Formats: sequence, structure tokens, C-alpha cells
Amino acid sequence: MMTSWKEWNETQPYVTTLLTNSLKKARLSHAYLFEGSKGTGKMGIAVTLAKTLFCLHVNGVEPCHQCSDCRRIASHNHPDVRFFSPDGNSIKKEQIDLLQKEFSYRGSESKQRLYIIEHADKMTQVAANRLLKFIEEPSEQETAILLTEQMQQMLPTIISRCQTITFNPLRTPELLTLLEQENIPKSDALLVSKLTSNYEFAREIAEDELFAQARNLVLQLTEEVLERRSQVLLTIHEKWVPHLKDREQMELGLQLLLLWFRDVLLLHIGKEDAIAFSQERQMLEKYRLRFPIQQVAKQMNIILEARKHLDANVNPQLVIEQAVLKLQEG
Ligand SMILES: [Zn+2]
Repeated sequence: MMTSWKEWNETQPYVTTLLTNSLKKARLSHAYLFEGSKGTGKMGIAVTLAKTLFCLHVNGVEPCHQCSDCRRIASHNHPDVRFFSPDGNSIKKEQIDLLQKEFSYRGSESKQRLYIIEHADKMTQVAANRLLKFIEEPSEQETAILLTEQMQQMLPTIISRCQTITFNPLRTPELLTLLEQENIPKSDALLVSKLTSNYEFAREIAEDELFAQARNLVLQLTEEVLERRSQVLLTIHEKWVPHLKDREQMELGLQLLLLWFRDVLLLHIGKEDAIAFSQERQMLEKYRLRFPIQQVAKQMNIILEARKHLDANVNPQLVIEQAVLKLQEG
């Protein structure tokens, strides 16, 4: 990813202002803790920050993304910018020891050094204590960036030594803009943005053939539930089961089905602007007329129950069959 500060400013204006101001004044902290949910750009901003510090052709605070330093940082091959993530389930003492050893060597390319620790909440107690010593006795131009999605699991001693920076969760309009920039059709972008606020994940879903299949299947099923009821079980056997094979795929199907009934509910309460299936207004309207609001709530419950059964390892085919039969009873 070659994201500029200007672009980061769109989604993380607070973080961007804070960090670029510190960069301009050459007053970076020795240790930062980037805290926020997945997909909010913690790693991306850490990388942009690293590039700004090392770039050979930096323009103001904007790195060029093309010089050898920028490229080596992007590919995690820069000797003075180290990346750490959990080895198995945890970040181990040995990893921190290695970092200290490497950084203690003189004769690296520049005086500046930076290390980025992903999922810093996964540090073992011993590793955390090692790191603390490191943070407490920083050399002149050493910067630590710790990333976490689980702030509550960070050791207080670490938190107290770092400047904590909280990342904004992605808002729907921002997510939609990002997705549309990737040429994802607006109607799909809208649907996906109701499933997740995580940009990377949203893009992955939207670009997956499976998503298109699941969406079309849900549209077919909802139409049949209303207008061709005898067809429903056949569609499940011939299309749903073979296409949405594993639990994760099935879960996606159920989530979309849930969004459908949520849309019907939104129509009932006059919040048409918030509907996800924006191109299916006609069919949604038929649902609204056919099912009173209490019944729609019941239908949503049926799907939520189905998701629970799926989690509890009930046979996926059985889960969807029973759910759709109940939806039809309405
Ligand atoms: Zn550069």
C-alpha cells in the first residue's frame, strides 16, 4: 500500500494531524501505542510514518514511496525498520531479545531506528518486561510503535510508557468511498458496508465471486418465499447447499438474508435511506405489505437462531432448510 498522509487524513484526521505535526517539529515520541479495531489503518500509518523518516526524497512530510528506502520499508526489508508480530500465539522474549541485539549493533545505515510490534497485547509477561527496559532507555533516535486491537489486554506498565493514539472506527460513508474507489459497484459496496466496518475485509468480500453468488441466491430465495413457495426447497438443494458449502460461506448467506429482513423492518419504520438492498425496493415493498412489523421481527429472530445453530455445529443444510420453512410460515 502506498498511502499518503493526505489520504490518511480522510479516514484518520486526528491521528494524521497529531503525527504529521510531530514529524514537522521533529518531536516524535519514543513510543507510541496505536489502538483501534481491525482495518482502521494502524499498520498502514505506521508504515507511512516509517517511510517519512527514511525516505530519500521526502516532500514536506510526504514520502515518495519509490526510493530504495521506501521500497525496503514496504517489503519489510529495511535494516533499521523492524516488524514484529506474534510467533504462534504470543510475542516471545526471544523476539524482543533479537530486536535489542540487532539495534545494539553500530554501523547500521542511519542513526534513526524504528520498530513496529503488531498485536502488542500478545506479548508474554517476560517479553513485555524486556520491551519496557528497551522503551525506558531509548537511544537518541529510536521510535517504537505498538499496535493493538485489544487495548484492555495491554499491560498497564506498557501503556504508561507509551503515547496512546486511538484510531477512529471506519464510518460507513468513508468505507463506501474507499470501496467505490476500488470500482466496487455502489449497490455491492452498500451491502458489504452493512456486514463489516473493516475496509480490507469489506474489499475482500466484495471482490469475492462468492459474495455475488450469495447475494443473488438471497434475492432468489426471498422472491420465492413470497411468490413461488413450492420452489424454495429445490433452490436450497440445488443452489444454496452446493454454493455456500462451508460454515463461513453459509454464515455470509445468513447475514445477507438477515439484512433483507432488516430492510423490510426499516421500510416499516420509514427509514428507507438506511436500507442495504437499495436496488430491490419493489420486492422489499411487497414484503412490507405482506408481513406486518411484528412478523418481520420474528423472521429476523429465525435467522439469528439459525446463525446460533450454525455456530453450534448443526448441519448447515438442515439449518437453512428449517430457517426458510419457518420464514415461509411467517
Ligand atoms: Zn522515498
